[in-house]
Amino acid sequence: MLVLVINSGSSSLKYQVRDVAAGTVLTDGLIEKIGMGNGGGGDGEIEGPRDHAEALEQVDAAIHAELGDRELGAVGHRVVHGGERFAEPVLVDNEITRAIERLNPLAPLHNPANVLGIRAITRKWPKMPQVAVFDTAFHRTLPEHAWRYAVPDELYTNHGIRRYGFHGTSNEYVARRSAALLDLPVEEFDGVIAHLGNGASVTAIRGGRSVDTSMGFTPLEGLVMGTRSGDLDPSILVFLGRAGWSPEDIDTMLNRESGLKGLAGNNDMRSVVEASESGDDKATMALAVASYRLAKYIGGYHVAVGGARALVFTAGIGENSHQFRTQVADRLGALGIELDGGLNRGRSKEPRVISTPSSAIPVLVVPTDEERAIAEATAAVVSSSR
Ligand code: AMP
Repeated sequence: MLVLVINSGSSSLKYQVRDVAAGTVLTDGLIEKIGMGNGGGGDGEIEGPRDHAEALEQVDAAIHAELGDRELGAVGHRVVHGGERFAEPVLVDNEITRAIERLNPLAPLHNPANVLGIRAITRKWPKMPQVAVFDTAFHRTLPEHAWRYAVPDELYTNHGIRRYGFHGTSNEYVARRSAALLDLPVEEFDGVIAHLGNGASVTAIRGGRSVDTSMGFTPLEGLVMGTRSGDLDPSILVFLGRAGWSPEDIDTMLNRESGLKGLAGNNDMRSVVEASESGDDKATMALAVASYRLAKYIGGYHVAVGGARALVFTAGIGENSHQFRTQVADRLGALGIELDGGLNRGRSKEPRVISTPSSAIPVLVVPTDEERAIAEATAAVVSSSR
């Protein structure tokens, strides 16, 4: 089956057409600046498509040439928030679209854009099966003691304030591939997965299921990220509010100006590592704060899963930065973790072991592929619905 995978943002639309059986990508692309054009008025400059429907016309034109006489079998959407309802990918109909829309308050930047993408497809190809794959779904197995915040119950019952967790599609895929590399059924995989990209989270997997994860009500909680702070004392926000900061000021500071950017002046791990290697003290401290925070979580999640049988690195930094992996592993001596220098510095697109034979547990690098996971989930849902 050919599946068009759509990741729809408020002003961008990323797409990929995949042949699920062959495991190949036929074509992909990114449409940007949606809704940012001036509609041809003024100086006549049109910067991007007017809306998601127009962006979809561009996608259709772009993929047409690649497909030849082959036809799309389904569309799979990456949907950020599935709330408490969605624990699995689902076939989209009007009721499901409205249910996703009702979750808008929980993900005000993302879910409305996902709904625009779904509606644009519904209008253009009314008969096309569409599947929503939720970034929160894999974490629906968190036990209550892991998802509850210690605040009055009405915050949960009236506002849905609880830990949801994100990067679920990536974690589910990486857990499966890690188990395969270790020759285990995924149901027997107990491990810790560090998804370290521009957004970063770490997840505790027990018996192939998510039992804890560092992102929470929003993707802000947990690790030090490219531009996000991760954990801090909530009283800091009260303090800033009293000092005259608006909610928007605080939101921007925590989500866009913190993390590696706040500590080292740069949100790109490559640049931070390079700066540190050439003697920049701020960059060195940024790496220390980020690796220490992650090591603390790994220690905690080792306990949460009842003794991890593997530590897994994935995503941009996890897959590529041997320097950052070394810094994290150096803090995990108490767990008996030991990297093999040569294997750690090696590069491959395949899942691999980077620890020594005497390491207490294997350390793996497993490349993630969210689009592939979404395409496979979409094909499975569509096939089982027929
Ligand atoms: P992602 O969000 O998964 O695309 O990851 C983005 C992050 O991965 C950025 O911080 C990049 O600096 C980092 N990254 C990508 N390639 C490399 C590399 N070769 N070495 C170190 N970091 C990398």
